[in-house]
Amino acid sequence: MRSELGVIPPAKPHIGEAEIEAAVAVLRSGMVVQGPEVAAFEAGFTAVAGTGHCVAVNSGTSALQLALLAMGIGPGDEVIVPSFSFAASANAVRLVGADPVFADIDPASFGLDPAAVEALIGPRTAAIMPVHLYGNPADMASLVALAERHGLAILEDACQAHGAAVDGKPVGSFGKAGTFSFYPTKNMHSLEGGMVSTDAPELARTLRLLRNQGMETRYQNEIVGANMRMTDVAAAIGRVQLGRLEEWTEARRANAARLDAALKGLTAVVAPPVAAGARHVYHQYTVRVPAGRDRAQELLTEAGIGSAVYYPTPIHRLAPYAHLAADLPETDRAAAEVLSVPIHPSLTDLDLERIAEALTGLEGRL
Ligand SMILES: *Cc1c(COP(=O)(O)O)cnc(C)c1O
Repeated sequence: MRSELGVIPPAKPHIGEAEIEAAVAVLRSGMVVQGPEVAAFEAGFTAVAGTGHCVAVNSGTSALQLALLAMGIGPGDEVIVPSFSFAASANAVRLVGADPVFADIDPASFGLDPAAVEALIGPRTAAIMPVHLYGNPADMASLVALAERHGLAILEDACQAHGAAVDGKPVGSFGKAGTFSFYPTKNMHSLEGGMVSTDAPELARTLRLLRNQGMETRYQNEIVGANMRMTDVAAAIGRVQLGRLEEWTEARRANAARLDAALKGLTAVVAPPVAAGARHVYHQYTVRVPAGRDRAQELLTEAGIGSAVYYPTPIHRLAPYAHLAADLPETDRAAAEVLSVPIHPSLTDLDLERIAEALTGLEGRL
């Protein structure tokens, strides 16, 4: 029986009056493409990423692609990536002509397992791409140490992890570069948009050239580049959202703490563990349901609780990558067990009670 209280959606992108006013003000100004709003957004975002430089682009995928290009990664190179991620993580590697090599995950964090990564390092390995899936930081202490031992670069895919940190150090600041997405369902958005974070000034300059046809000065093209500029409309919306990121993140974390408490002691539904020192920003609140994820999702739907599976098919099983050899038992297990339930900042107390009740109600029914 469907609840009469209405369905709680799994995600709820926020577009408020402040965002609309900011966008209209840019449209009225006539300066709409990569102008003062983009520069101010970049300057403001350095505080989130914890790096000296941020370069705005038109999507998170563009951010990954340009970061790889700026790092000099291309044909003949391999990049070790998780298969348990959004396809963009591997697509970006392919788009620059390099080869993704899929490593298994640590089942607790859903991030790259450092031992699995080490086993895949070979003469062509150029970089490691940890993904901070669901907003939970990957094991950066181990991955940074591993990369240093083998002389490899790290590119963080922090597209789901704005404001996540390890021992107070923000994700996006651990490697050569980090990337963020501002797609509407992410923890903050700019309609579409992305950001590359880096501490290296020369890398930041290369990124600025790459996003704008290789030009710093108009018609003096220095290198081959793309057009991956962010509009000032997007940046103005992003700046409004940036101003609320901390408040929204704390709301997500408080919502997660309530669900954690409700799930304590259950066996049917396992709450997402968080490592000591990690700041999880709960882009998703993702539980494991080992005894019957699909049935659990049906029961939640009947109770009016929206949910989603991120991601039902690991990247190494998707058509463009299925020819690559990969044996990833933890990735396959996660894909079969995970379920993300609503955690967004607009949930009410009643919503949270209903979600907690529906989850605890799964005990003994799967
Ligand atoms: C959203 C996302 C991307 C891509 O960002 P877009 O802005 O959609 O291009 C890349 N990696 C991960 C892990 C993502 O969640």
